[in-house]
Amino acid sequence: MPENYVVHYAEVALKGKNRPEFVHALRRNLTRALSGMDPHIRHSEGRLLVTAVGPGDEVAARIGSTFGVAWFSPAVMVESDMGKIRPSVLEMARGAKGKSFKVDARRSDKSFPLKSQEIAGQLGAEVAEATGMRVDLTHPDVVLHVDVTASGTVLYSGKQAGPGGLPVGTAGRVVLLFSGGIDSPVAAWLMMKRGCMPVYVHFYLAPTSQAALDSKITRLLKVLSSYGGKSTLVLVPFADYQLATVGEKDDLEPSLFRRFMRMTCEALAPWFGASAIATGDSLSQAASQTLWNIGAFDRGSTLPVLRPLLGFDKEEIIGTARRIATFDLSIEEYKDCCAIITRHPKTRVKAEAVSEAVERLGLGSLVWRVIEGATLVTYNPLTGEMKSAPLSEAMRRSKGPVRAQAAPPSVEAPA
Ligand code: ATP
Ligand code: MG
Repeated sequence: MPENYVVHYAEVALKGKNRPEFVHALRRNLTRALSGMDPHIRHSEGRLLVTAVGPGDEVAARIGSTFGVAWFSPAVMVESDMGKIRPSVLEMARGAKGKSFKVDARRSDKSFPLKSQEIAGQLGAEVAEATGMRVDLTHPDVVLHVDVTASGTVLYSGKQAGPGGLPVGTAGRVVLLFSGGIDSPVAAWLMMKRGCMPVYVHFYLAPTSQAALDSKITRLLKVLSSYGGKSTLVLVPFADYQLATVGEKDDLEPSLFRRFMRMTCEALAPWFGASAIATGDSLSQAASQTLWNIGAFDRGSTLPVLRPLLGFDKEEIIGTARRIATFDLSIEEYKDCCAIITRHPKTRVKAEAVSEAVERLGLGSLVWRVIEGATLVTYNPLTGEMKSAPLSEAMRRSKGPVRAQAAPPSVEAPA
């Protein structure tokens, strides 16, 4: 049996001209999220009516993790005829739990013979008699919604919260520094929540890209793709960086390495149509994240650097990580660039000192060397297929860097 849902999006995002684009993107993302379930989605009366075939909890889980959904509810669709509406409302009322109720009737089909108040009055009296629940118009335990539209009547009761936010893809792309720790997956989720599509960039220490592919990084990618859809990950080896900085006093670390990561992201961004960089930094959480060291990281950046976790306490970040199911993977042991450890990291590294080291060590050209050794990974959550190939090959095949506005990435993994 197909399941019907009424899906509401957040009104706040819908002022003005962006509305059709927003609704179109939400429909597209819901269609993708429900793929394999024969989804049909109709826009009507400022909300979406979704039909899909599949187990109710599975359909609800997929709708409930699609950004842009404010709330949703299983719904029953019937002909706009009181003879059809009445038994369905009574059935819905009998299944509801509560001592009081109200019928919330809306009539957008003005050819329907009863006015909203008459519909609510008639149905209210019958529900009260059939169930023994009392009518409470101000604080009812149960609200029975009856929306009479020209194409049929939608009945629903009880709202389930969606994740809110904006549909992924409506706010462009960001290159997201992805460490596999607790913070950066949450940062990715928050960027997606505001409509951005992340291109994940991970710097790995493992001797081969296969080891990085087999690590928790790709497992985290899978979890995050259940929110963002098809995902792109760039695995960047950073052994060459370590070689280039051998013998350097570790005064500047971890700021120098973080500047190098930022420079690499800047070089990658145009190839993926990304218009910003995002990180999982939270102010002063670590020595690398003091205001001064963040400044050393950002210096010279031509792209905005976004830090969605900047004002979050660790406990708040952990709470979200648990909720979005990344936490358990994040705490698995993994050797990442935190292996570049300075026992007494400076909390006030000078941006100029980092810039001087970048020049002296030729890190600008090293960026292109590490990109040459990088691996492009794509994951499609609908097919479960993960593909990987050298990034340089994909770059050579592509039409070249693209401007940030261009929606499709110019670098795609091989078919
Ligand atoms: P996280 O839990 O995200 O690892 P953290 O508390 O360990 O954060 P840092 O290691 O200083 O803090 O990293 C801060 C941010 O720098 C990360 O959130 C991420 O955006 C970026 N970053 C750190 N290591 C890497 C890496 N190996 N590859 C890509 N980005 C990284
Ligand atoms: Mg980390």
